[in-house]
Amino acid sequence: KQRTFAMVKPDAVAHMGEILKAIQDHGFTVSRMKLTRLSEEGAAGFYEEHKGKHFFDPLMQFVTSGPVLALELVAENAVARWRELIGPTDSAKAREAAPDSLRARFGTNATLNAVHGSDSAEAAAREAAFFFPDSRSC
Ligand code: ATP
Repeated sequence: KQRTFAMVKPDAVAHMGEILKAIQDHGFTVSRMKLTRLSEEGAAGFYEEHKGKHFFDPLMQFVTSGPVLALELVAENAVARWRELIGPTDSAKAREAAPDSLRARFGTNATLNAVHGSDSAEAAAREAAFFFPDSRSC
């Protein structure tokens, strides 16, 4: 099985129950989960690859605007299957192209798009390590 990293963004945290149900219904196992907040430094680190892009400042503003739910998901082909379930980046386009997708259901536009999904197994490992730097027990 494969791991991927998912994040419910601040605009969709109020819908986390429905999103967790979709995760379960599509056969993913939740292996780690954390409700947390991104600091400005944390958000800039997490989205480092987008520094300098036109949407970087609104993206920083958005992802630091409230809590996020970080999740590590396990399933066969988890990276691709989670990207499929969340749908296209722009929630407005997702409503046309993939109306049942999570971004269509819970997002608004290209910035406020409800959920994140890693685009590769390598990105998933890096992003999970960012949110779950250790696996100690309490
Ligand atoms: P994510 O990485 O969050 O899963 P993605 O891989 O579909 O999304 P990226 O290109 O990695 O999209 O962009 C990261 C995030 O930046 C998007 O999820 C969205 O919130 C924001 N974003 C991306 N493209 C745009 C855009 N053209 N206009 C505004 N915001 C954008």
